[in-house]
Amino acid sequence: MEFNLSEVGLGKSSKKESKVEKVLILGAGPAGLSAALYAARAELSPLVLTGTEMGGQASLTHTIENYPGFPEGIAGAELGELFRQQAERFGARFEYDLATAVDLSQRPFKVRTYSNEYLAETLIIATGASPNHLNVPKESELTGRGVSYCATCDGWFFKDKKVVVVGGGDSALEEGLFLTRYATDVTVIHRRDQLRAGAILQKRARENPKIHFIWDTVVSEILGNGVVNGVRLKNVKTGETRDLETDGVFIFIGHTPNTQLFQGQLDMTPQGYIVTDMQMRTSVEGVFAAGEVMDPHYRQVVTSAGMGAAAAIEATRFLEAHSSE
Ligand code: NAP
Repeated sequence: MEFNLSEVGLGKSSKKESKVEKVLILGAGPAGLSAALYAARAELSPLVLTGTEMGGQASLTHTIENYPGFPEGIAGAELGELFRQQAERFGARFEYDLATAVDLSQRPFKVRTYSNEYLAETLIIATGASPNHLNVPKESELTGRGVSYCATCDGWFFKDKKVVVVGGGDSALEEGLFLTRYATDVTVIHRRDQLRAGAILQKRARENPKIHFIWDTVVSEILGNGVVNGVRLKNVKTGETRDLETDGVFIFIGHTPNTQLFQGQLDMTPQGYIVTDMQMRTSVEGVFAAGEVMDPHYRQVVTSAGMGAAAAIEATRFLEAHSSE
């Protein structure tokens, strides 16, 4: 998606008098909400533009078992809600709005949403990442009609049905295991013969009688008219193709950072992650980034939360250093 600042009125002087926020946070996943908590406790009354997903991707996870402090695990949505409540208790504010354009060329930075324009002395970008698509025929046409990127959201619709899961990482196995609650049969289709997922999930998946694996294979097409009824498979070693009947296709093949808004304004890696230093500072002074929008390595709730806290601490220090301006 391309954003033209002049089209949305950014870069021109706005007639509306906007209050200048000390700390504006984009995104309400673990990074954004932890940044909000820390900035709120520094009495900066941060404003969070939540985007479309309160709690971020983590809120779509059925159970999070590796966030410290919850020995029995906690539902992703519940953890997100607790993060939000904790930040709000110290004065964080939330707008359920989506940034559509930004101007980082001078301070205060400008952020445009569908309904408003915001000015900010510091900006913390925590817009996260979105699931990758296979980009095969009928994938978009059948999304919501058998194709899904979220087992927690859609698993229930596949009660007593057969599903396939595409991918070999933690998400594929975790979500595949979750799907065994509903589906009679979960076939994991992976493009190699070795899983990327961690040992515990691998063990659980291999031991689950409902889970089967098809190795060295990719989905080349999704089949069905109006609703999924199968997938066309291609063995990457032999080139052989075959069709497999299925009612659902769950795709977990990694993520792309949500950084389109900042293209050309912040330094990014070739993969589109925002480049920061250890202090979460981006290439623009006063703009910080935290979580999956800048982290291709760890992508855990606990690491994103830690980075969000660090970004808020650095934003606080930045404001102190520039308080005389
Ligand atoms: P990931 O680790 O990047 O794994 C993506 C998987 O999809 C890989 O197996 C990859 O194959 C496969 N893949 C990529 N592109 C593909 C394509 N075009 N066609 C077919 N297969 C494709 O992504 P993830 O599983 O979403 O995990 C993301 C991060 O979140 C990781 O750091 C993970 O540890 C973390 N996470 C952790 C937990 C947990 O700790 N419980 C749960 C979920 C996620 P290759 O292996 O061949 O590259």
